[in-house]
Amino acid sequence: MPPHADVLQWEHLPFPKSLRDFQKLFKDDAACARYLEGAKWPKGFVCPHCEEKGEPFRMATRTSVLTCRACRKQTSLTVDTVMQRTHAPLTVWFWAAYLVSSMTPGMSAVQFQRQLGLSRYETAFQILHKLRAGMVRQGRDQWQTFKKALGMTKPGPKPQPIDIRFRRWINLDGPLPAHRPELGPCWLWTGAIRKDGYGAFQIQAKAEMAHRVAFYIAEGRWPDPCALHHCDTPLCVRRTHLFEGTKADNTADMVGKRRSTPRILTDEKVAEMVERKARGETQTAIAEALGVSQALVSLTLKRRIAA
Ligand SMILES: [Zn+2]
Ligand SMILES: [Zn+2]
Repeated sequence: MPPHADVLQWEHLPFPKSLRDFQKLFKDDAACARYLEGAKWPKGFVCPHCEEKGEPFRMATRTSVLTCRACRKQTSLTVDTVMQRTHAPLTVWFWAAYLVSSMTPGMSAVQFQRQLGLSRYETAFQILHKLRAGMVRQGRDQWQTFKKALGMTKPGPKPQPIDIRFRRWINLDGPLPAHRPELGPCWLWTGAIRKDGYGAFQIQAKAEMAHRVAFYIAEGRWPDPCALHHCDTPLCVRRTHLFEGTKADNTADMVGKRRSTPRILTDEKVAEMVERKARGETQTAIAEALGVSQALVSLTLKRRIAA
């Protein structure tokens, strides 16, 4: 089979013009199976084992399998499609493809799971991933996109769900955060490391920060705008060590953490700092007078305001 070949032919089949149409046409697994059968054998079933033509046996319990009347061998309707070797019912796949072809591009696996009424997140994640992989050329036409999503196979190795690929690079026996041991050990990223010290992970053909991906996998959406570390360990990808927020939130969190770490400044020095600030001295001037960094002056003053 050539790469990206459309293994199904749909042109002769009716297609739904509305959501109501869709629900009527694909009302149960048997209806979806009949539809797939028509897409696979536009001129009627031909047994791939013995080339016998004619109505196959259909099973009520396993709708995606046809049995040849002549040789009694079974043929799968989903072979060579994205639906191959999955346990999700055909109605779920059809509805999923419909959602994928009509939905806003950023729909998360969690939203997708809710829409499909699936109890397992992993199932929703895998279906979404496979359908997206099948949509090589995204057509403008929704129906076109729907057919592509269902009928195409991806060439090369099977796409692995992101979370499985991601988990491979985690060392669960990281250090305990010294200032917050109650958080438990850090999970350290063992994959590629960026210049800025954060882990790097390839996702959707883009290099992402590993801890952001950890947040994405756990939450089904990207952190807005940043994923930040309670544990101050850039390589940590443990969800419970991460929180969502802005760079300013990070500074506030750091100031909070400083409270429980040994104080670099004496109370007298802090008092002097506040006094000088009140007198209108610049942070740089205060830093110089006290022999500390400007960053420390800034943090300390912020903490005094927050306290
Ligand atoms: Zn046969
Ligand atoms: Zn950590």
